[in-house]
Amino acid sequence: MIIDSERAVVFTGAGISTESGIPDFRGPGGIWEKYDPSDFTYQRFVGDSDSRRRHWDFYLNGGFGSEDEVSPNPAHHAVAELHSMGKVHCIITQNVDNLHQRAGVPEDRVIELHGNMRWVKCLDCGKRSTLAEVVQWARENSIDEPRCEICGGMLKPQAVFFGESLPERALADATHYSSNCDLFIVIGSTLVVTPAAFMPRYAVQNGARLVIINIGATPMDRQATMVVEARAGEFMAKVVERVKDKVGTQA
Ligand code: ZN
Repeated sequence: MIIDSERAVVFTGAGISTESGIPDFRGPGGIWEKYDPSDFTYQRFVGDSDSRRRHWDFYLNGGFGSEDEVSPNPAHHAVAELHSMGKVHCIITQNVDNLHQRAGVPEDRVIELHGNMRWVKCLDCGKRSTLAEVVQWARENSIDEPRCEICGGMLKPQAVFFGESLPERALADATHYSSNCDLFIVIGSTLVVTPAAFMPRYAVQNGARLVIINIGATPMDRQATMVVEARAGEFMAKVVERVKDKVGTQA
């Protein structure tokens, strides 16, 4: 299907990154067993300084893992390789971990529906820094809630929080590419969080084939051409090898 397609889109969720050591928020051992999800709403973050300190406690204690601890796994590398072979047009992701970009997919080919935890932005002056820089600076200065170094404004990670609207541009792009693809490959998403979960619907409604690679069932399984219950890394590494073989013999 990948070889036959002209405009394949890959859609990824938490399941592609669990093999990189990033815990699934909802699963066993997930972040919500240690932290209260109601603290992680946009409204609480902006409006309640105790809640904000609990956020920063989470980041300062390596909540998402540092760049040395977390790296792209074979599934991210497989997707990046398919992209560089011209076999994947773009990647739509629910993840905020920056791992597709780190695997080598150009930034403008990754559509991030829930933003990106790599960046922190000042809500007042708009200055952008990396979370790693801010965390390091806060640790060195024993600060429990870092503020903007320029204007003293509130710093917020550029991931989309609960209760915060999705970035309009990303949502528009995701809708466009989902509606205009001929193959839609889901990797590691249970397809339950809307509006992200609408994307495979748009694809199917417009005649695309749907492939779902996920541990566990999804609401879209019955509309899929193929459902694969497998770990993303192992499976996608094999897929890339097969695509390379076939492209090689065609050439
Ligand atoms: Zn500022």
